[in-house]
Amino acid sequence: MTTGSSDVLIIGGGIIGLSIAREAARSGLSVRLLEKGAPGGEASSAAAGMIGPQLHAEAAGPALSLALQSRDLYPEFVAALRDESGIDARLTARGILVVARDDRDVEALRRQADVQRGLGLTAETIRAGDLARLEPALAADLAGGLLLPRDWSLDNVLLLTGLHIAARRAGVEVLPGTMVTRVLREGGRVAGVDTVGGRYASGMVVVAAGAWSGAVGVDGATPLRTHPVRGQIACLRTAAPLLTDALVSEGCYLVPRADGRLLVGSTMERVGFERAVTAEAIAGLLEKAFRLVPAARQAALHSTWAGFRPAVDDPLPAIGPGPLAGLYYACGHLREGLLLAPITARLVARLLRGDSPGLDLEPFSPMRFLGGSSAGGDAPGRGGVARRDPA
Ligand SMILES: Cc1cc2nc3c(=O)[nH]c(=O)nc-3n(C[C@H](O)[C@H](O)[C@H](O)COP(=O)(O)OP(=O)(O)OC[C@H]3O[C@@H](n4cnc5c(N)ncnc54)[C@H](O)[C@@H]3O)c2cc1C
Repeated sequence: MTTGSSDVLIIGGGIIGLSIAREAARSGLSVRLLEKGAPGGEASSAAAGMIGPQLHAEAAGPALSLALQSRDLYPEFVAALRDESGIDARLTARGILVVARDDRDVEALRRQADVQRGLGLTAETIRAGDLARLEPALAADLAGGLLLPRDWSLDNVLLLTGLHIAARRAGVEVLPGTMVTRVLREGGRVAGVDTVGGRYASGMVVVAAGAWSGAVGVDGATPLRTHPVRGQIACLRTAAPLLTDALVSEGCYLVPRADGRLLVGSTMERVGFERAVTAEAIAGLLEKAFRLVPAARQAALHSTWAGFRPAVDDPLPAIGPGPLAGLYYACGHLREGLLLAPITARLVARLLRGDSPGLDLEPFSPMRFLGGSSAGGDAPGRGGVARRDPA
């Protein structure tokens, strides 16, 4: 049985799919979002919540430019979701602190600061003696730091809850428990999708299924190849927060929540869709965390989890038209899906409306992996600053 047509079908209810759905619905399109489980139930909730394009920015390029534009959209994005849903994702105001454990780290941070200032970005070098002023719980033997006052963190679980409510209030029909198996074609263009529970018709489909995007078949075309990169997190809990803001150091980061939880992350592992949390990874992360914040040793171990970052075959996300007219991809955001959600939503919603994206999407084109050019061109509508890993 085929369910009546909508302007757009979005496959995947993570931060990328929900953000696109909300934006497209607000621009007047009728939108159905199909989610195999519960909206926000995968990588987007497993994430730590850093909005940090500068964390590892080392040179100018399309990736950094995209990330900075998305960061600029964040305060407005969070405020709009608060208005639309009543839920505040608590975007922090002070910035992310990167700390150096020894003189070699200090030198690396100084070089990073120089490069970033050269790019017109704000980066403040912090002397060892001044670290305790910013974060009193820091170990006394740290060698220095770098404050990135325009990089932020937030509570991504709250963000996802607010986004889900906002998307529905904007008119998006969210269908949880609906697994898409194939994108259907009619002639040279998209006609809808098949799910395990029936068929949905639409002339436009956006694949935003995170690490599973490559598993969504496309009639008569090769789907994009995607794979998961597992990230593990240990969550501690103390009566009062140990840190004011997110803290990053070589091989580990700590992100505080307002209620005293402290997220310690994370690993980058290519182990397929293996959800297990391993004793070795958690022990390694906690050992690094204790060196930075000794009082964390006394914290309660609240929980642990693992999530799957969505990767494509190079470090840039895949955003834009695919091999069939009306088919779009928005996936492969790897370690920066939270950060890149507002700009991805804006770009894809413009494409869906048939407008120019307003930005050169060539470096992010899904067709770089599929060969040839997209069926729909740059605005088909209906018809690196190189960086090290932040998360
Ligand atoms: C431990 C960890 C820490 C991270 N920290 C950060 C961070 O601090 N900052 C940052 O910016 N990013 C971070 N990330 C990365 C970020 O979480 C991801 O890039 C982002 O969540 C990707 O969003 P998404 O919507 O593409 O994927 P997901 O959130 O995985 O959503 C995809 C959705 O598609 C659904 N789906 C899949 N297949 C189908 C199908 N066939 N039919 C219907 N639905 C389907 C899934 O059920 C899922 O809900 C982190 C990731 C991890 C794992």
